[in-house]
Amino acid sequence: MATKRLARQLGLARSSARARSSARAARQRFAYLIVIDFEATCWRDAGRRAPEVVEFPAVLLNTSTGEIESEFHTYVQPQEHPILSEFCTELTGITQNQVDEGVPLNICLSQFLKWIQKIQMEKKIIFGTDILSDSTSEVKACTFVTWTDWDLGVCLHYECKRKQLRKPDILNSWIDLKATYRAFYNRKPKGLNGALQDLGIAFAGREHSGLDDSRNTARLAWRLICDGCVLKVTKSLDKESGLLDIHFTKCLFVYGLPRHI
Ligand code: AMP
Ligand code: MG
Ligand code: MG
Repeated sequence: MATKRLARQLGLARSSARARSSARAARQRFAYLIVIDFEATCWRDAGRRAPEVVEFPAVLLNTSTGEIESEFHTYVQPQEHPILSEFCTELTGITQNQVDEGVPLNICLSQFLKWIQKIQMEKKIIFGTDILSDSTSEVKACTFVTWTDWDLGVCLHYECKRKQLRKPDILNSWIDLKATYRAFYNRKPKGLNGALQDLGIAFAGREHSGLDDSRNTARLAWRLICDGCVLKVTKSLDKESGLLDIHFTKCLFVYGLPRHI
């Protein structure tokens, strides 16, 4: 009898926890988030060499269910330094063959935009809107999420500038999940893995694999949502002058960028 009562209580506790987390998910401004985590060329001592994207993953997270509904993934051929350093292969697990069989960044960006168009059509997604997006709304607001500002504010931003490629406008604002995590939990995480560990979540897959980093960042975003954090855009680049209005004093170098992950 006591066991039955306990089970009922547990059941009740579970369903109210579910109700709480779905209420929090419903409060989100963004019905969808696209998590990006680039891997780039690197060296033990980078000197004046600038990073070029070698792995371009993106995962689409539904903020009501926590499900990843679609993924984009491609390896990218570096052009300025086409041969990967041993250090880079060891860090990221990405091989010379994988990048040789990849595509140059301009092709990768157009493939990425095709994927964006496809999910926009399928899911009725719109970008750049900070409106409250509820489950009854016809259109679903969406924005990007990265771990730190490095991916979109430094790596892709300067690579597109150097190569005179047009960076898609939708990539000019995003949520820095590290800054969001710090503010929400009031503690400084030790990297993405440390942030997950602090919450009792084990990193799934290989650290510094762009796709695994993106999936784990999405899991972390979902956890923040379930804990009651309403995710908001933290950075916006001004179209005219690039980095200007974002707090980049700590990483304003184009070359030999200081890491702050
Ligand atoms: P991550 O998303 O943490 O895997 O890092 C993204 C990119 O930053 C990597 O692909 C490298 O280009 C660079 N990076 C990360 N950690 C290091 C490190 N310890 N030393 C040099 N470069 C790094
Ligand atoms: Mg990263
Ligand atoms: Mg990574």
